[in-house]
Amino acid sequence: MSEFQPIFQYIVEGRTRDLEALIRQLQKPLRFIKDTTGYTLIHFAVLNEKEEIINLLVQHEKGLPGTPANEVTDWVNSLSPDGYTAFHLAISKGNFSIVKLLTLLGADVDIKTPLGLGSLHLAAQGDFAHLISYFSEIGLSVMECDSKGGTPLHWAAYMGAYYATSVLMALQAPINCQDHDGHTPLHLAVLSANNRVVRLLLLKGADRAIKDSRDRTPMEIAKENQSNELIDMLKPEGILEKTGYRPLLKPYKRTAFPFYFVLCLIIVTLALIILFCVQYNYYLSYFFTATSVSAILLMIFLVNSNPGYITRPKGIKLSYLYQTYKYSEICPDCVILRPARSRHCHYCDKCVQKFDHHCQWVNNCIGARNLGWFYSFISLLWLSVGLSIAISIEVFIGHETDRGIEDSPYEISLIVASFTGFLSVLTLVPVSYLFITHTKNFCENQTTSERFSKGSKFRGGKKEKSCFVKNCYSMCCNKEDDHSSKSSIVTTSSKQMDDYHMILEESGTK
Ligand SMILES: [Zn+2]
Ligand SMILES: [Zn+2]
Repeated sequence: MSEFQPIFQYIVEGRTRDLEALIRQLQKPLRFIKDTTGYTLIHFAVLNEKEEIINLLVQHEKGLPGTPANEVTDWVNSLSPDGYTAFHLAISKGNFSIVKLLTLLGADVDIKTPLGLGSLHLAAQGDFAHLISYFSEIGLSVMECDSKGGTPLHWAAYMGAYYATSVLMALQAPINCQDHDGHTPLHLAVLSANNRVVRLLLLKGADRAIKDSRDRTPMEIAKENQSNELIDMLKPEGILEKTGYRPLLKPYKRTAFPFYFVLCLIIVTLALIILFCVQYNYYLSYFFTATSVSAILLMIFLVNSNPGYITRPKGIKLSYLYQTYKYSEICPDCVILRPARSRHCHYCDKCVQKFDHHCQWVNNCIGARNLGWFYSFISLLWLSVGLSIAISIEVFIGHETDRGIEDSPYEISLIVASFTGFLSVLTLVPVSYLFITHTKNFCENQTTSERFSKGSKFRGGKKEKSCFVKNCYSMCCNKEDDHSSKSSIVTTSSKQMDDYHMILEESGTK
């Protein structure tokens, strides 16, 4: 072993040239050399993350006269005493370039560890979204199970690997699959108290009612562990979630019912006031009619508007994005680099520029391109609700004109005014809440989504302080995001993309 000792030393120190000179001088096969723990030189170089040396070792071996090619491949795929190949070690290190190199050198991507863990399991454990997307692109299945029936998603959920969880779900990993203990990924995320992962799984439709082999639902596990935040997330949605004042933690089917309900309410109130109450105050009634009609038109516009959906550019690979940019900047569902302030809407299943929220009442997302219109709609609605109450008060006071009283008896007007007044008082509180919070958002240049997320509001730096006029202008007219969206993948140089695709093709991407 002593004559090979310098080889190990050169690997640790990354002295590629010295190593090259040494092995050339030795002219001996290297594939039989192992360290004291039984690791081959390739294992050892991977552990030390020396990519150039791995290539050097394999090329040297291939160049030795009389070395069968299959023996070199066997060397690349040899197992350590604990049953791991160099490829497994490279995945555990999360080293994309070594993983790619080993793939090109003939590493078997299907070999499992003694626990039955495949490449995707290992990548999921380490939260390596770039490796997961790469393995999927070269044809590995996200459904493969380990010896205990655990899928990569089980491991990601258990380890609290948020990015691995999100990319695996984007790749259609089975979300409610049970392992041999009956655990779904949701059970495991709750067991290890990974709140962020639990939230994501729920948003994507994880089943809360499945029981494990000990007859426990995720909620029962959360109660056992006294995790109040998890109990809050797992309980059925309340009135706030149903009315859209708090985000719903489950997939929401887009339905036009709330839209038609609100629309009918505005139209009925408007019609009743025009028919029976207009004569009690003409100025207020005309003003009310103008605001209500405008609100109706805006509502119809909003339901059909594009909030600023971001389209997926052609030819972009997910692994390329993960390898090139920060994980947090990538949307695996849309396969895009998200511009600052954009977010994936789980209801629309698309990323929206300057995402504000998904409004159930207008059955659409509110984002960069319709935020100003939405604010105008709320303002008009608030005004029209206020005016409706004022008109009802006028009717109660009985301040009728001579002409009006002949058209409809005072009693009917009084009944109508009681009804519209009651409806308006009921809606005044939620509409005022919306109006005030959105006014605050506009003055502070922040979206509803940013207000709800306590963490970093602005990707890539702090928000600059500016006056409220500038803030309102930015919210209405989407000024700053026009620029930041241009800095997305569009700026990826074609040279980078070409190089990348060449690598993928060489390593067998379909
Ligand atoms: Zn998205
Ligand atoms: Zn949406």
